Amino acid sequence: MRLLLIGAPGSGKGTQAERLAERFNITHISSGDLLRQHVRDQTSIGQTIKAYVDAGDLVPDSVVLDMLRKPVVAAAESGGYVLDGFPRTVDQAKAAFEVAHPLGVEVQAAVHLDVPDEELIRRLLARGRGSDDSAEVIAHRLQVYREKTIPLLEYYAGREWMFAVDGTRPPGQVHEDIVTRLRKLAAFDIPD
Ligand code: ADP
Repeated sequence: MRLLLIGAPGSGKGTQAERLAERFNITHISSGDLLRQHVRDQTSIGQTIKAYVDAGDLVPDSVVLDMLRKPVVAAAESGGYVLDGFPRTVDQAKAAFEVAHPLGVEVQAAVHLDVPDEELIRRLLARGRGSDDSAEVIAHRLQVYREKTIPLLEYYAGREWMFAVDGTRPPGQVHEDIVTRLRKLAAFDIPD
């Protein structure tokens, strides 16, 4: 099973990705977690991207694509993946398809976790993960989401493997809703 989770900062992508990974025995791959790990480990990628992550800007596409290629292909070969945080732009989605399609590892379903701005801001301020969770940077990340990722939702709109769920409900309910929707897709055979 190969899934994408798309949602604004604070929409609960990480939580839902973990639950899906556990339920379907697939690998959770978070672009944000991998990038933050590079920053912590002070790798050469980490040094290149720290300023972007701290400012709430997207890091360059080439960095993210290079970083994800191996883990995504490896996960696809061992049961599948749930990608959280990638793709975030139409360009990333197109580039990912070009890489994944010839290998037969392209995405089979995309979930949009829909949460209104005021709830996102409330959650992000409460979370206070670090330098990219200050009020100012949060506002900027939401702006980047509107500018770069909403067009991705529009690009995917109308595909039968793309659907939205209401992300304001408790995590368990959101999870069950996602599973119910996945069950309706012909690509999967999910028992009741
Ligand atoms: P959130 O969705 O809560 O903003 P993430 O953990 O997904 O958090 O991402 C944190 C940061 O990592 C982003 O603000 C951005 O700087 C960088 N990042 C993550 N994924 C991508 C991506 N696909 N393309 C570019 N930058 C990314």
